[in-house]
Amino acid sequence: MLEKKDLYSMLPSELEEYFVSLGEPKFRAKQVFPRLAAGCRIDGLTNLSKTLRERLKAETLDTLPTVEEKLVSKIDGTVKYLFRLFDGSCIESVLMKYKHGNTLCISSQVGCYMGCKFCASTIGGKLRDLYPSELLGQVIVAGADSGERVSNIVMMGIGEPLDNFDNVVKFLRLVNHPDGLNIGYRHISLSTCGIVTGIYKLAEVDLPITLSISLHAATDEKRSAIMPINNKWKISELLSACVDYYKTTGRRISFEYTLISGKNDTAADAEELATLLNTAFRGTGAPIHVNLIRVNEVKETGFKRGSAETVNAFADLLEKRGICATVRRRLGSDVNAACGQLRRSRMNKEESSS
Ligand code: SAH
Repeated sequence: MLEKKDLYSMLPSELEEYFVSLGEPKFRAKQVFPRLAAGCRIDGLTNLSKTLRERLKAETLDTLPTVEEKLVSKIDGTVKYLFRLFDGSCIESVLMKYKHGNTLCISSQVGCYMGCKFCASTIGGKLRDLYPSELLGQVIVAGADSGERVSNIVMMGIGEPLDNFDNVVKFLRLVNHPDGLNIGYRHISLSTCGIVTGIYKLAEVDLPITLSISLHAATDEKRSAIMPINNKWKISELLSACVDYYKTTGRRISFEYTLISGKNDTAADAEELATLLNTAFRGTGAPIHVNLIRVNEVKETGFKRGSAETVNAFADLLEKRGICATVRRRLGSDVNAACGQLRRSRMNKEESSS
């Protein structure tokens, strides 16, 4: 919990309450909420009196991230941001430009506790959860800095969003608010390594976002070897939660499958994956979508990236079994865009200079 107030984490109803507690009229909330969402800091709230602004400055903490470093891809214009947070920690966001609009990939925690063996974000563990304002702040600041409207959000940056459940749900409500950034739930995806209890809870709050599951293996033996979360919830429990999510929300689920050379990328792996998913979703009518990604090599993990032919053959096999498979294009390959790598190299630098 923060000791000071955090304006950017407040929904209009909470802002109202806060202003009333200061002896101000309720409508101050309506004056302020859209401006905060547009990236305004307290000094810029010129529709408030100077005295009130001073009071707000004394009582609140400015939690908007600041741009610490920014790398722009010469190949495709992808922008990788290293953001500095109020307490000095760093996170990453990536702005990707597509024909249909701009997608921002945001982080949900400072570091990650989940321990996936191929992932740079989890080396060094989790330092803390991000506040709603810091989740929203990534969208606000990336939009303001780039001058581009962020039309889609994917929660696929550093951290496990369902391990920061309440703040993530609050963020979703903030970013979707019509007086704020007004980004539709259907334009937001949340990716999880498979926190089963979180998937059931997410179905209950019933926000029509897209759920993405990082599956990465079709058997418990292989999945447990690369994803420790699989020791807590087996694949069958994970897929039951997915079926429940689909039945409750009607929203399609997509599966992420990272191909690691020699670990999970053979024709037999593809067949096993197809059988697994077709069996789990039989009779539900749910369309199944698998996103295939060739692993981004992270120095510390030692996992190898396979060939383009291998991933294409894997996709063909899934398609033959009735599963829609897409091979993820790699954007920003020249700006270290893989999850957690920029923060990692910055941490190494800061550690060696201190
Ligand atoms: N914790 C969430 C979201 C963050 S990771 C999750 O696990 O889904 C976003 C995606 O990138 C996940 O599918 C994750 O497994 C994948 N990923 C992480 N490191 C990777 C790497 N080195 N190469 C390819 N994909 C990676």
